[in-house]
Amino acid sequence: MAVDITTDLNVVRNIGIMAHIDAGKTTTTERILFYTGITYKIGEVHEGAATMDWMEQEQERGITITSAATTCWWKKHQINIIDTPGHVDFTAEVERSLRVLDGAVAVFDGVAGVEPQTMTVWRQANKYSVPRMCFVNKLDRTGADFFRCVDMMVERLNSTTLVLQLPIGAESDFIGVVDLVEMKAKVWRGETQMGEDYEVEEIPADLQEQAAEYREKLVETLAEADDEIMEVYLEEGDVFDVATLKAAIRRATLADKLNPVLCGTAFKNKGVQPLLDAVVDYLPSPLDIDAIVGHDPRDEEKEIKRQPSDNEPFSGLAYKIATDPHLGKLIYVRVYSGKLEAGSTVVNSVNGRKERIGKVYQMHANKREEIASVGAGQIVAVMGLKDTKTGHTLSDPNNQVVLESMTFPAPVIEVA
Ligand code: GDP
Repeated sequence: MAVDITTDLNVVRNIGIMAHIDAGKTTTTERILFYTGITYKIGEVHEGAATMDWMEQEQERGITITSAATTCWWKKHQINIIDTPGHVDFTAEVERSLRVLDGAVAVFDGVAGVEPQTMTVWRQANKYSVPRMCFVNKLDRTGADFFRCVDMMVERLNSTTLVLQLPIGAESDFIGVVDLVEMKAKVWRGETQMGEDYEVEEIPADLQEQAAEYREKLVETLAEADDEIMEVYLEEGDVFDVATLKAAIRRATLADKLNPVLCGTAFKNKGVQPLLDAVVDYLPSPLDIDAIVGHDPRDEEKEIKRQPSDNEPFSGLAYKIATDPHLGKLIYVRVYSGKLEAGSTVVNSVNGRKERIGKVYQMHANKREEIASVGAGQIVAVMGLKDTKTGHTLSDPNNQVVLESMTFPAPVIEVA
């Protein structure tokens, strides 16, 4: 049966995962879906183990795991993962997906560090001021160097990094991270299979000095970005509790001033749960984003703002067309304001055509959920649209708006 999805927007995170090809975007996404598949949705227990079986099946068949947007749940937060294409050829598509997400995780190969495509996507994310965190992956690999990778972020990406974790052990002996916010060690012992199976321990003796040094750097960097922290720090030193620090890191990340840096190995399942915690703690909800600005379809000069609220007139941006083997043509829409209802009539404000919304789905890793109506801030797949293309705005017939005024160059396809 179709359900209404009206979620408190504070618990929603629309995120993208961006990376140079081979850095581990797919593996990190799979692990996220694995961990979130065995967690709880608000009020209801998710049928968990199925996710892993399903992933194995998909891998055997070599099918891409994620749809253009995959919804999952982590600690009572709804995370919508928006697929950002990794190929430079699809720059326009990357740009379009960057517009519909609110925050991003950049995944780095711990050996290769910052690579050319990371630089391209990073620049595009700068253009839209997308708040970003960094995940230094593959720390289990020979030659992986967390600190060199962080230096490269500063040099090549001009990032103001905020190191939140230090690796414990290196290469095949990499076993976990020092959490500089909690000043604890999080260690994965043995082969991890299911759930939150890291152990929280005291910081190992041989890392205590380094941890103290990086904790000081963390607090100083935060103080420079945040007056509240600076004031207390100057008077009393580092007296911050975990909640205060987390709130300050969130403020600085949302303002696109700082990039929290975490690390691990997605492949070996070490570091992914703390990464999910950080997505919830530090990346924006749709309410943290400024109202979207569009224009009147009859007058490009006339600006219209839409707040992320169910009480506003409906507006949404079609950002991706996909073909589902079972459902046929699906158009992915980010709802910016108002409610999108199955069976309702909306207007495509770009070509002026009326469109009937057919079935609406929220896509999960291993299933899709039919939805009767969905509120602002959400991302769904819609069936039945006839004349809508990527970049088109759908809106309330009585309150039209065009959300995307920019035009994208056609992707450059190199012919060999
Ligand atoms: P993508 O191109 O960014 O999506 O990268 P993939 O997730 O497909 O990973 C590329 C390759 O790196 C695959 O062979 C993965 O198994 C491997 N890989 C991903 N994460 C890790 C990791 O943490 N450690 C190691 N050693 N290999 C990894």
